Amino acid sequence: MAVGWARDGSVQDQIDASVGDAVKLARQRLPEGESLTHCEECEEAIPEARQKALPGVRLCVSCQSELEKNQETTSAFNRRGSKDSQLK
Ligand SMILES: [Zn+2]
Repeated sequence: MAVGWARDGSVQDQIDASVGDAVKLARQRLPEGESLTHCEECEEAIPEARQKALPGVRLCVSCQSELEKNQETTSAFNRRGSKDSQLK
């Protein structure tokens, strides 16, 4: 039941303890590969400057901020997030 995320000094432990989650998070937060020229969500063009600034970027500014809003919501209401990760 305890939330297993000790934030100070045990990053490696976290990674070892929940590789699946860590990989998932890393993929979301540090996109890899090519930037998309158009947003994955709304197909709006992504400015080249944004593509360069964020390698592997897949969303336009507005979809990205929507997504980040949703992620904040998810961690504020921790239930959904932890339920998901415990299922795996
Ligand atoms: Zn978009």
